[in-house]
Amino acid sequence: MSEQAMTSPNKHPQGPVLVVGSGLAGWSLVREFRKLDAETPVLMVTADAGDFYAKPALSNAFAQNKQPEQLVTTPAERMVSNLGVTLLQRTRVESIDVQAQEISTSKGTFGYRQLVLATGAQAIRLPLQGDAAEAVLSVNSLEDYAAFRAQLMPQARVLIMGAGLIGCEFANDLALGGYAVQVVDPNAAPLAALLPEAASVQLRQALSDLGVRWHWQTTVKAVHKQGDAYAVELSNGQIQTVDLVLSAVGLRADTALAQRAGLDVERGVLVNAQLKTSADHVYALGDNTQYASASAGGVSRTLPYVMPIMAAAKALAQTLAGKATDVVFPLMPVAVKTPALPLVVAAPAPDVAGEWQAREQGIWQFISNTHVRGFVLSGKQTARRAEQSKCVAI
Ligand SMILES: Cc1cc2nc3c(=O)[nH]c(=O)nc-3n(C[C@H](O)[C@H](O)[C@H](O)COP(=O)(O)OP(=O)(O)OC[C@H]3O[C@@H](n4cnc5c(N)ncnc54)[C@H](O)[C@@H]3O)c2cc1C
Repeated sequence: MSEQAMTSPNKHPQGPVLVVGSGLAGWSLVREFRKLDAETPVLMVTADAGDFYAKPALSNAFAQNKQPEQLVTTPAERMVSNLGVTLLQRTRVESIDVQAQEISTSKGTFGYRQLVLATGAQAIRLPLQGDAAEAVLSVNSLEDYAAFRAQLMPQARVLIMGAGLIGCEFANDLALGGYAVQVVDPNAAPLAALLPEAASVQLRQALSDLGVRWHWQTTVKAVHKQGDAYAVELSNGQIQTVDLVLSAVGLRADTALAQRAGLDVERGVLVNAQLKTSADHVYALGDNTQYASASAGGVSRTLPYVMPIMAAAKALAQTLAGKATDVVFPLMPVAVKTPALPLVVAAPAPDVAGEWQAREQGIWQFISNTHVRGFVLSGKQTARRAEQSKCVAI
């Protein structure tokens, strides 16, 4: 039976395309859809204010002392008038009835002809001991950024949990902003999962030169109140006194709504190549999504970065406008925003066996059976991203 024949009839053929979430995924999808279809009503429902901002800017805004409002590139009202959509701000979608093709919110029930879940990801909270465990902050939205800034006094001492991509970016940015930064990580080096050892060593040195202090192969065990500050107890027995603790230990796809609706979910909401979930007329894209189109060794993947969202938004807009389109992800190198040592990382797929080889100063290639499957560029070599991308066999 064809995909078309298996699809249940549309109960709300005149209803809106309904988008849940106003992050990069939600707004990019609407923008692409409007290029193809100016008529179909679009309703966006979002738990936040709906302002458009580039989330990656959150981890390089402290050095420039930017206020949260300055990070908003287009306020919600302007997005609404530019794109001709109806926006329900500060409204959480509580449940979805996929049979009736309706969502329920605190502001009522709304039918949809097609539903798009763009609910993003949540910061992972590690269980910590201590009477100030709840004071640990994470920055994954404009509101989080505002809350963190409000507590960040000049020259504050900040301890960052996690030396991954986001932890290193915050470390660089806060150090440039004049804050005293320490980073705690269970690995032995920054970005240990992503970089060849030599690149990791360079990054560690560059951030150390800025004044960042490291605590390797240990974790934060407890956070205790100590006057106006916090005493952070590490699992190696050390105690560090700081003014703020920032957790950057990773994000987890926000699949709660999809799960409650009975959709198939693993590490993200499962979608096929056309970004359709296990329910008819329901689609997903962005940090909440696990893409069949990004499968490696039979395992599909989440892709919590900007470039995959752009590719997914273009393909899904076509499908919603009536031309069923598979998303095809190109090679998507990620620029690490550590100005102390700029990096570009094109990571090999997780199932690819091989090894990192140094090519030139600041260029490493991941070689598998004589094929280049990924690369890392550092410093001035980051300008050679296009050239290196051409070497990669995907
Ligand atoms: C600090 C930081 C730096 C980053 N830097 C980079 C970078 O340099 N390069 C890169 O490629 N990527 C980077 N990323 C990742 C990138 O920003 C994300 O992949 C992208 O912004 C995710 O967009 P999204 O729309 O999927 O999710 P989100 O931005 O999380 O949006 C989710 C939306 O869903 C809404 N929502 C959730 N649940 C509900 C509900 N039940 N009802 C209604 N609304 C709901 C939320 O309010 C929100 O509007 C960074 C991420 C962070 C946190």
